[in-house]
Amino acid sequence: MRVFITGGAGFIGSHLTDTLLDAGDDVVILDDLSTGSADNFRRFKANPRFQYQVASFLDVPLINELVDGADIVYHLAAAVGVKLIVESPVYTIETNVRGTEIVLAAAAKKKKPVFVASTSEVYGKSTDFPFREDGDLVMGATTKGRWSYACSKAIDEFLAIAYYREKGLPTVVGRLFNTVGPRQTARYGMVLPSFARQAKANEPITVYGDGKQTRCFCHVGDTVRALAGLMRTEASYGQVFNIGGGREISMRALAELVRDTAGSKSEIVYVPYAEAYAAGFEDMMRRVPDTSKLRAHLGWEPQKSLEDIVRDVVDSV
Ligand code: UDP
Repeated sequence: MRVFITGGAGFIGSHLTDTLLDAGDDVVILDDLSTGSADNFRRFKANPRFQYQVASFLDVPLINELVDGADIVYHLAAAVGVKLIVESPVYTIETNVRGTEIVLAAAAKKKKPVFVASTSEVYGKSTDFPFREDGDLVMGATTKGRWSYACSKAIDEFLAIAYYREKGLPTVVGRLFNTVGPRQTARYGMVLPSFARQAKANEPITVYGDGKQTRCFCHVGDTVRALAGLMRTEASYGQVFNIGGGREISMRALAELVRDTAGSKSEIVYVPYAEAYAAGFEDMMRRVPDTSKLRAHLGWEPQKSLEDIVRDVVDSV
């Protein structure tokens, strides 16, 4: 297979590249290096089955050419990280919506299968736990910056499903829950690499709010296995899948687990949301995926426990 990955220099893209090269595929990545990093693909440069382009995925002729040269497309490029999203909403909305339009329009010409990466953010403030793919999405006010990300990714999902239904384009939507592992940077505010870096430096571990909010973490290796599995199965087309970890943990307990795993002397401090994020930020108190659809469809199970995940991240920062 010739695979084209947008956002291939990002954290998830680089792990997907690893997995697909190992499986014998040819991989071309495109990345503007806004949040991705050249360090993430340096390791592949010697591989003759790997190519990269540093350019914007809003470059229509280039996208057309790269999609034409591929058998399958993974569209991962997006504005990511709560911090970036709250601080740069124009960039977020334009990148996410316009980028997906361009990729889907290019793929539709020759009906190239496309995986569209979405996010658990689309469930918004829903309290219907665990989140199921057919559940309602509950967004906040348009004056609150965070929701622009959820809405922009929901539009991406609508587009992917519309292209499937109206134009017969094979598309698959994956809603990624908190995905973690080596190569994830702390720069955009993600919690686990931040805690791990702080613990290793014996600096205070900054838990936002009261730390009772929970998340379920999935190791990136398990996540990319799900992505590749979904695109190998035609029965996935036109569908939405949650992809996420099973064990729910509070940020307070996560901070303790990271500190203990790192053998760190860090103290755990609580930072009010108003100090941690720009105004207009609302945090989600829980975020729990129902992954029964993915499990039934692929026989997928996460292989890494939370302890394994934390160990892996602590060792890699
Ligand atoms: N968080 C925290 N300290 C940090 C960074 C994040 O307590 O240094 C919290 C954040 O407020 C949220 C959770 O950790 O409740 C997960 O944050 P992240 O940005 O990693 O993911 P998301 O909020 O998108 O699930």
